Amino acid sequence: MSANFAYYIDIVGTCNLRCPSCPTGNFLPPDFTSVPRPTGTMSPELFREIALKIAKHQNPCDTFLGLYNYGEPLLHPKLTKILEISNELNFSPHISTNFSLRVDFNKLLSNKIGGLRVSMSGFSQKAYGQGHRRGDVRLVKSNLYRLRVEMDRKRISFPVEICYHLYRHNSNSSEILSLFELCEELDYHLSPMIAGFVSVEKFIRHLNGSTTEEDLKLIDKLVASPEELVELNNESNSNYCELYDEQIVINHDGSMALCCGVFDPVHFLDEKFLAVNFKDLIKVKKNKAELCGQCIATGTNSAIMQVNSQVMSQKVETMVRNADPSLRLQDGRVTRINLKNEKVEQN
Ligand code: SF4
Ligand code: SF4
Repeated sequence: MSANFAYYIDIVGTCNLRCPSCPTGNFLPPDFTSVPRPTGTMSPELFREIALKIAKHQNPCDTFLGLYNYGEPLLHPKLTKILEISNELNFSPHISTNFSLRVDFNKLLSNKIGGLRVSMSGFSQKAYGQGHRRGDVRLVKSNLYRLRVEMDRKRISFPVEICYHLYRHNSNSSEILSLFELCEELDYHLSPMIAGFVSVEKFIRHLNGSTTEEDLKLIDKLVASPEELVELNNESNSNYCELYDEQIVINHDGSMALCCGVFDPVHFLDEKFLAVNFKDLIKVKKNKAELCGQCIATGTNSAIMQVNSQVMSQKVETMVRNADPSLRLQDGRVTRINLKNEKVEQN
């Protein structure tokens, strides 16, 4: 049996937000080599065929299956069916959402999911709206409350993680401490990370000196510029890229992307997932690997994945402590120390 791949299936090929750090928000028509990225949703029939093929080659119980890449999965009109198919085949799919939309909790909680990640970049609308353009933080918060109520009512349990994107403007006490207290109340994990600049294509262009005015505005808000991220994460000279060897990204139409970091369709693979022999899944990436050469040579892959976890965690911990002296980072999650008796509470 081949290696156990992690799968990211973009069941929805679009998003309701336009975050400036994400290609869904920062890739404009002139940024594409030729045609723009197609949008749409994956039919449950196609999803079933894809999931069946995966399940034939990997034990679904040991397989990471994310129903997202650059799309918002909760926009899928047949989400219940997709979750049902996943469960029938013994997958526990993971969902990453912005939660800044009307959520049908009956659909979302109709089947077993492995975990839910909610991306946020502020507790106040003023901060949140800069990182999550077009988003409404009140909607996000109300969904966080409703999720807890519905999970408790249905007696369902799975990890809920708030992935907080740290920028210069959203790292103060009123943003981080307030969100931590909300997470504490709702029994969610708060996992901060240094916001980056995605995609691979734009990152490389920036390192080569070609950045749009709009992207420069975003880079000004970053805690670490692309150049600093390259320096901080330049820990090995290896040619190995985890995303190349261990990850399969499937778009809503069944086509595949080189990895989760690329956005331009020019970096989609020549064959669709269902047309490729399972044993050849890595082989078909070779035709598009020219980009990988540039990506590795410039240090982009290590920087985007923030591979130097020790240094990156220290940076996050410093920011969290600066926000409030009682806050710490433990296993990537914010915890609070009772400064009087040093008791650790984790959320
Ligand atoms: S919510 Fe996620 S997918 Fe949508 S634009 Fe923002 S970062 Fe990109
Ligand atoms: S080297 Fe870069 S482009 Fe290639 S798979 Fe890795 S992250 Fe993607």
